[in-house]
Amino acid sequence: MIDLSLMKGCRIDPVRRTARAEPGLTLAEFDHNCQVFALATTMGAVSPTGIAGPTLGGGVGWLCSKYGLTCDNLLSVDIVTADGRLRTASPLEHPDLFWAVCGGGGNVGIVTSFEYRLHEVGPVLGGSVVFPFTKAKTVLAFYDDFARSCPDELSVNAALSTTADGVPVVGIGVAWCGALDLGDRVLRPLHAFETPLADTIASRRYVDLQRASDAFFPLERRHYWKAGWQRRLTPAGIDVIVEFAARRPSPYMRLSLQQMHGAAARVPPSATAFVHRHDQWEVQMLSQWLDPADDEVNIGWTRECYAALEPHLERAVYVNSLGGDETSRIREAYGANYERLAAIKAIRPDELLPHQSERGDAASVELSVHPDSVQGPLEQQDAPAFRSSRRRQRQRAVSRITR
Ligand SMILES: Cc1cc2nc3c(=O)[nH]c(=O)nc-3n(C[C@H](O)[C@H](O)[C@H](O)COP(=O)(O)OP(=O)(O)OC[C@H]3O[C@@H](n4cnc5c(N)ncnc54)[C@H](O)[C@@H]3O)c2cc1C
Repeated sequence: MIDLSLMKGCRIDPVRRTARAEPGLTLAEFDHNCQVFALATTMGAVSPTGIAGPTLGGGVGWLCSKYGLTCDNLLSVDIVTADGRLRTASPLEHPDLFWAVCGGGGNVGIVTSFEYRLHEVGPVLGGSVVFPFTKAKTVLAFYDDFARSCPDELSVNAALSTTADGVPVVGIGVAWCGALDLGDRVLRPLHAFETPLADTIASRRYVDLQRASDAFFPLERRHYWKAGWQRRLTPAGIDVIVEFAARRPSPYMRLSLQQMHGAAARVPPSATAFVHRHDQWEVQMLSQWLDPADDEVNIGWTRECYAALEPHLERAVYVNSLGGDETSRIREAYGANYERLAAIKAIRPDELLPHQSERGDAASVELSVHPDSVQGPLEQQDAPAFRSSRRRQRQRAVSRITR
């Protein structure tokens, strides 16, 4: 176990629009540093999580329709590979290693710093429109059409959840990063559709948008999550989602449909280790509850829900959504990129070097790995994903290289 939580260095170059960031930073810390210069890049949407996990797995967030995934905005990394050597990887230096870092799930070494491309961001239009649960089927059908036709400046996310006072609802969350008057016009159909219970879309600071979902994931809860990609929200798939949401065993459950669209979807699937490049939804069954006595019923509900939805899903999963009990899905996380990633992970470290003089002597240690054992996701995931974030909040986030 290697604890990187104290590595919180962050240097912004506002002229080149780049950030050099260390892996102990949380999203909140990273976003804050960038926004001092009115800059940002795509990160996840819950601010206490770390920057390292999302970057290494891909990184889906509010800016990804406009600017691509987090890993698409990575310019270079400093990385310690399994032979203990520090290397710089970028499209020009150790390009295979860099390819594997971009979405390969932390499989090829420990990153000690990330260099990101930044963009001018903010203020944004953000918030959500919330409808009664009884309208869920109509809302989700509208959501699919609306989101599919929206410009890159708009990213959306729908969720079936329960309000703090116990009312089941369906909400559509949005983030518009572009000219605000144009955003108002693009969002008009959403404001005009049905009669909402609440409409909180307004101009806000980017850092506030990034914190807006934090309250749904407090630390004291127990978690069991499953997810998969779905290309279109079909009426039959929507029926399953709504039926299971209606009999949720816990009011803290969120059934969320996170959008993959625009720039993130247009990158060729083989360009980075992140293979899932389509206009599509990540259907996330995010079960949360309080009492360990309720583990069985909540885990059971999640598994049943996933099994019922499986026929509507692609055989594909985001590596950062894989559970620790999902070893059979590891190939689905990397798809056609699995073999290349396994080959890069299995390479002799000395072969990564153009010559021996780079940053110290070459130690010719062969990685004890078989291509079939690409298992980064196992180390990262499991309600474990959440435990990791909790560790980070306690200032001792740990990263581990898997061999
Ligand atoms: C509440 C919540 C919300 C989330 N929302 C989103 C979202 O909006 N978008 C999204 O894309 N994902 C999201 N995720 C998934 C998230 O991307 C993963 O859980 C991610 O692994 C968390 O990274 P971390 O750095 O916080 O965790 P850590 O526990 O520090 O890291 C997780 C794993 O990543 C690897 N790792 C970490 N640091 C390094 C390093 N420096 N070098 C090499 N390997 C390393 C290790 O294998 C480690 O076990 C969310 C997760 C949670 C719990």
